[in-house]
Amino acid sequence: MSDVAERLAELERLGLSRRLRLISGPQGPTVLLDGRPVLLLCSNNYLGLADHPRVREAAADAAMRWGVGAGASRLVSGSMTVHRRLEERLAAFEGTEGCLLFGSGYLANIGVIGALAGSGDVVFSDELNHASIVDGCRLSRAEVVIYRHRDIEHLDWSMRRHEKHGRRLIVTDSVFSMDGDIAPLAHIAELAQIYGAKVMVDEAHATGNVGPEGRGAVAAAGLEGEIDVVIGTLGKALGSYGAYACGTAEMIQYLLNTARSVIFSTAPGPPAVAGALAALELLIERPHRVDRLRSNARALRRGLAEEGFPVSESEMQIVPLVVGEERATLALCQQTLEMGVFAQAIRPPTVPAGTSRLRLTAMASHTPGELRQAARTLGEAARRIGIDPAEILAPAPEPLHEIEEIETALVRAERLSAAAGSSGPAPFDFERETGGALPGEPVRASAGAPLDAGASEQAPDEGAGALYDVERETVRAA
Ligand code: PMP
Repeated sequence: MSDVAERLAELERLGLSRRLRLISGPQGPTVLLDGRPVLLLCSNNYLGLADHPRVREAAADAAMRWGVGAGASRLVSGSMTVHRRLEERLAAFEGTEGCLLFGSGYLANIGVIGALAGSGDVVFSDELNHASIVDGCRLSRAEVVIYRHRDIEHLDWSMRRHEKHGRRLIVTDSVFSMDGDIAPLAHIAELAQIYGAKVMVDEAHATGNVGPEGRGAVAAAGLEGEIDVVIGTLGKALGSYGAYACGTAEMIQYLLNTARSVIFSTAPGPPAVAGALAALELLIERPHRVDRLRSNARALRRGLAEEGFPVSESEMQIVPLVVGEERATLALCQQTLEMGVFAQAIRPPTVPAGTSRLRLTAMASHTPGELRQAARTLGEAARRIGIDPAEILAPAPEPLHEIEEIETALVRAERLSAAAGSSGPAPFDFERETGGALPGEPVRASAGAPLDAGASEQAPDEGAGALYDVERETVRAA
């Protein structure tokens, strides 16, 4: 057996193997999957703009006027007017002086982090940040300090411990992609000021959805123009492909000169840029689309709550149903699909081991009725395979304030994994990675104590669970 075949077999054995599902048609509220119509409940086409007639027309028109490809990096073969126009509009939308387009959100994150931190510097990164941020941290060669999810006290403590270092950068998702909860941006900005650090916020799941007129979580926190670099993607609410970074004119000039993923990568093609521009115009002209997304999110959440899922009332369009164990999650995904709802199972390394989940996403193009029906289907699917919806862990988009609430959630997750016969790591395994509290480290009542401190020293190739858990990495000074 080749090493590749061996690794594939191991992924299969761990319930972590992935495959593509072939669908027909655009990312609408329903898609044809294997020739059968299913409700699409896992797309990031939040506002339904990916196939909006005006967006399609703009992309088609751009293809006819400027062609399909940008030819090279804009620094090499020249910047097209359509790139500049979108950058101007995005800067105005974000309330910043400048904007720079990137090929994708992944490229934006690795480019910006690498530009703002390098050898001798320190990056402070939330433990549930997106993989592209994790990779950006690794590529930067800076020291990386992972702070506990949305834990300001822990971030403060970590920054105090690294006061003597060179440049310091705090990086965070604003809306966390797999949980739909929001970073404490105002506190982060405050700490950055106190410690003289820069802040990069990734608004991939907030742009177009959260905040006044969908202008993001930074705007919702009243921090427009105060964050050093705001990243947004064009591939989610803006229905196209690509990404952008916003900041001061000086910062944008700096990124243009130092972000390797801009300098050494072909610029996004004119149809993608023009499509995003049309989507942005639609968002600005008709913000009711954002309201519809929010009321749909509420309808989905309410429907799930009626089925007994412990889902909180909120307008957040990302709704995770954390089953825990990988195979149980796959079984729920499959059962739901057979009943006409496509809600993808999300497993490690996208989420921490033991927290596999269905990540549901509402779109503005769904009808509330479709979402209520989808919630009923999910409830019925869970019961059919022996999962009590009440036993599913559905993290609240807002912080769990009460210790009791947190403890109940942890106990429930542990019970679920045990019921699913998991032989793998316990739920909330990410706490193991931190290796337990260091002297003087603030300990959170919920999970500060390590479940198994020794596991933090595990080499990447030891132990099945650790092998593919490559998205998150805890690097901490001793
Ligand atoms: N940041 C976050 C938070 C994301 O969820 C994603 C994609 N899922 C990205 C960045 C990467 O964006 P893109 O898909 O444009 O590469």
